[in-house]
Amino acid sequence: MIIIMLGAQGTGKGTVAGILSKQNNWIQVSTGDIFRENISNGTELGIEANKYISKGALVPDEITISMVEKRLEELKNEKGIILDGFPRNLEQAKKLDEILANKGEKIDWVINLETPREEIIERMLNRRVCSKCKATYNLKLHPSKVPGICDECGGELVTRADDSDADAIKNRLEIYDTQTKPLVDFYKEKGIVIVEEISERINRFADDACKDFMQKIK
Ligand SMILES: [Zn+2]
Repeated sequence: MIIIMLGAQGTGKGTVAGILSKQNNWIQVSTGDIFRENISNGTELGIEANKYISKGALVPDEITISMVEKRLEELKNEKGIILDGFPRNLEQAKKLDEILANKGEKIDWVINLETPREEIIERMLNRRVCSKCKATYNLKLHPSKVPGICDECGGELVTRADDSDADAIKNRLEIYDTQTKPLVDFYKEKGIVIVEEISERINRFADDACKDFMQKIK
């Protein structure tokens, strides 16, 4: 089963993807995580990607697509994969269809999350990420039990560089509207978009909300 999470950054889609993965033993493939791994390991790809990420811009398609393709190949024996942060535009979506079709696979479901713009900005400025296991928290909506320390692994919580600047956030949201939002219609035509939720509910009742999703999928 291959599932795509759609929703602007800050809608809680990473959180939802994480919960669904845990509940169903799926693998979460987050392009954000793949980028950060490559950047912290100083790979050629990471250095190249970081030039864009540090400006709040998107990484060029060819870098992103080849990274995701490689990861999908590594995960080909998994029973479920949930893509978080990919595809980001129509080009990537069509390319992904091609890659999957070559293997006799397809996207099964698309989960689309929608949240008011002001709430997203507020949310991103309050977001903290574990420096070790990448679990995400929110200072207001979903704080860690001990401030600054990850509940899961005890790692230090940090602000991602691309979350600390309101202008960079607005820039990314505009890019989302023009490039990624059209994907909702692209997948609706295929009849596989199943959910549009205000993600406030995700934060308060995350586990239950994800079980509801599964009812719709099954
Ligand atoms: Zn952690």
